[in-house]
Amino acid sequence: MDTNKVKFVLVETSNGGNIGAAARAMKTMGLSDLALVNPCEYRTYETYARASGAEDLLDNALVVDSLAAAVADCTLVIGTSARLRTLSWPQIEPHEFSTSFEAAGADGKIAVVFGRERSGLSNEELALCSQLVVIPSVASFSSLNIAAAVQVLAYEVRRVSLQAETALVATPTKKAPGELPATHEELEHMYKHLESTMIDTGYLDPGNPRMMMPRMRRLFNRTGMNRSEVQLIRGLLGSLQKAINRINSSA
Ligand code: SAH
Repeated sequence: MDTNKVKFVLVETSNGGNIGAAARAMKTMGLSDLALVNPCEYRTYETYARASGAEDLLDNALVVDSLAAAVADCTLVIGTSARLRTLSWPQIEPHEFSTSFEAAGADGKIAVVFGRERSGLSNEELALCSQLVVIPSVASFSSLNIAAAVQVLAYEVRRVSLQAETALVATPTKKAPGELPATHEELEHMYKHLESTMIDTGYLDPGNPRMMMPRMRRLFNRTGMNRSEVQLIRGLLGSLQKAINRINSSA
């Protein structure tokens, strides 16, 4: 496991000091890929003071205006949360990172996403994550400072990478392009296609969506789709749409 494959994404962090402290936490664990989604004004004295030696991560950070843009090149997106959500998402503990990383394949990029200091990640943002990692803090006081959460999870990434270095594992065989894990962007196109087809068949009522799309996402995300499997589902959706068009034109 190469730590260069892992990107940490901070969503709408409102305190520059936290961004600086997160950069420092990452750098101590060999991580350098930092993305900031709509950050506060962070080029301040406090941010750089708290980064204390990790200024390069701040200077090279990717700044974007949506989580989707930050994770477009990733094959695995893992959200983080201090608490359980209503729609139970596949949830892992930090020590289970290694299993998730293996499933992402050797070529994919992995994102670990951190939420706002006050309100965490929105349900729409969580929908982009296929798993949720929860640091098992005490239930009565479960919320860590964001930079502390970054430190814990950066350490877990480091632990996995050190294990991989020492393990006597065979080099993975080169995969055919279709066998590569689908990127987040490819999956998003598939979900859009699925949603519009479900609306066209009448299965999904946009006025009363009944959490159908989050449930579909949860189902597909659990499978860890590769590129050719995405094509398979999109082929099916295309054929359904052709059938609907035929019915509509003969009606
Ligand atoms: N009230 C918010 C807390 C946000 S804390 C909520 O309930 O979600 C800010 C961020 O730090 C969280 O979005 C998450 O990314 C991270 N974090 C804090 N405590 C955590 C924990 N116990 N496990 C995993 N991530 C945590």
